[in-house]
Amino acid sequence: MRKELQDAERLRLIGDLTGVFAHEIRNPMQVVRGFLQLLDAPELPPASKTQYIRLSIEELDRANEIIREFLLLGKPVSDNREEVDVGRQLRRTASLIENYALGKNVTIETTIEPDCMISGNVQRLNQFLINIMKNAIEAMPDGGAVRASCIAVDESRIEIRVSDEGVGMSKEEVERLGSPYYSLKKSGTGLGMMVSFQIIRSFGGTLRVFSEKNKGTEVVASLPSI
Ligand code: ADP
Ligand code: MG
Repeated sequence: MRKELQDAERLRLIGDLTGVFAHEIRNPMQVVRGFLQLLDAPELPPASKTQYIRLSIEELDRANEIIREFLLLGKPVSDNREEVDVGRQLRRTASLIENYALGKNVTIETTIEPDCMISGNVQRLNQFLINIMKNAIEAMPDGGAVRASCIAVDESRIEIRVSDEGVGMSKEEVERLGSPYYSLKKSGTGLGMMVSFQIIRSFGGTLRVFSEKNKGTEVVASLPSI
């Protein structure tokens, strides 16, 4: 990605993820709170006590992991390129955004083929994935399913597909995607798609969007594999 994405824009984009972040952290906090209340019960069997403590620690570790991943997303991105397992990152991003989605009655289904390897920057790939999945979730105010997959098309290309059953876009709206600050949302940034196009271009790939009003949208990234 070129340096055209200024720091202020990057921060706005991260700000866009605050809602997701808050939701993902609140969940483990509530679970731990529940276990602490249970631990307060008189005459709790020692086995239950051990179990509640173990589960609480697991939840706190998960919260910690979520914070770490979000901080990584917000970090200025280096230009490092490395071998990236796209399927693994797709699964990680889906699990990062899972509670946020469930809170909106959206399920995320992933289909992952092994050997979807690219040369790219893992942090940027994750920024792309979270932007696209967040848009898919937000497109379904009444809930639905997001399907995310990565497949090896042939020896030299892979495809990442993310589809939703949401509000969809007209042809004109699809054409405007990627223009800076183009957003139809009340508190949108209109930067997610612009950044997504830049990221896929920087990996030598192409990003296509297929959409039908009131039917849904599919975003397809086609990338050179290694
Ligand atoms: P933001 O999400 O902050 O509005 P984006 O750049 O991510 O900005 O998206 C720009 C606009 O494109 C959105 O406001 C929305 O109108 C439209 N859009 C993007 N993805 C989808 C989708 N999956 N379904 C319907 N509309 C979408
Ligand atoms: Mg967006």
